[in-house]
Amino acid sequence: MQANTNEMVIGIPRAMSFYHNYPFYFGFFSALGIKIVLSDVTTKQTMSSGSALVVTETCLPIKVYVGHILNLIDKGIDKIFVPSIQSIAPKIYNCSKIRGLPDLIRNVVKKPFTMVEATLDKSEKNQGLYEFLKQAAAPFGITDEKKIKEASKAGWRTYNNFHIMSKSGMSYKKALSYALQGKVFIENNTKEYPISIALVSHGYNIFDDRTSMKIIDKLEDMDVKVYTSLQLSQEQTMEGINALGEKLYWANEFEMTGTAGHYLKDNKIDGIIALNAFGCGPDSLMIERIVRKAKQFNKPIIHLTVDEQTGEAGFITRLEAFVDMLFRKKRANIINKIDINNGERTYKPNTEYIETKS
Ligand code: SF4
Repeated sequence: MQANTNEMVIGIPRAMSFYHNYPFYFGFFSALGIKIVLSDVTTKQTMSSGSALVVTETCLPIKVYVGHILNLIDKGIDKIFVPSIQSIAPKIYNCSKIRGLPDLIRNVVKKPFTMVEATLDKSEKNQGLYEFLKQAAAPFGITDEKKIKEASKAGWRTYNNFHIMSKSGMSYKKALSYALQGKVFIENNTKEYPISIALVSHGYNIFDDRTSMKIIDKLEDMDVKVYTSLQLSQEQTMEGINALGEKLYWANEFEMTGTAGHYLKDNKIDGIIALNAFGCGPDSLMIERIVRKAKQFNKPIIHLTVDEQTGEAGFITRLEAFVDMLFRKKRANIINKIDINNGERTYKPNTEYIETKS
């Protein structure tokens, strides 16, 4: 793979933080002249090779991550980026598996490769993004502060472009593709959907086609508009956490509790799908609380769990049943609004679902 021995190459696993941070990693490493090689998309083989190296109880995304590391090693990549994202703000922590990712990989992957470790811990004094980036660049002999800071700006540019497009409602894949090409487009999507659903989960669960079994495509095929945490700002998710009366401790709360809290009080959302991976302790607790709160908001909710054995047929059946129930509920609402006026029946369709562009 590394044809030119002078070429600097870094392998990035297409898993975990990839789904949120890759636009930043791409802008940053590219600006430093480091070529990026991604692992291949997740397959059954990725899952089974990763699962074979860890204990059964390990959560699915970590098994997938291990599979991606193996894939990069098989491709002949020596330096592989394995960040440890401890804390994203003072006293807001990631789950222990995300925090200890380099240690976990060191202990289970016994093949020769160089781990590019970088730790982000905003709860520690003097530990900012620059320290993290310095550690990421050091294995390539890059220590020039100015160069690293310039590369960081390039990373933020790509990251911000990706998020601007995602917030406008553009699909994950399209927004990522445009951002990596240095482009920004805002789609003027006027298509109306009869049903809107908020999908509450981590990016690594819903944007990985194998793990999610293409849940977003399947819902769109059923004429459902899908909303995720990517359409929300951090302020909106923070409000969502407050709306549910929860306190912020886990970094996961933004994607889970905050996203659920925001969409539970949003009238255009007809129902919520909370999806977690088998073996995830923090999400199980959060989803339990979200499901209880959903009753107070009178919002239909379904909780789906995926693991490497989940069969697609049963998964689709549950999705179809939920969507069908939402359609029936919406039709019943429309019929309830029939008004008898001077003996004539006038339909007053419920148009709350039509997204209002502010
Ligand atoms: S948050 Fe859950 S799914 Fe994600 S790494 Fe931690 S345990 Fe696994």
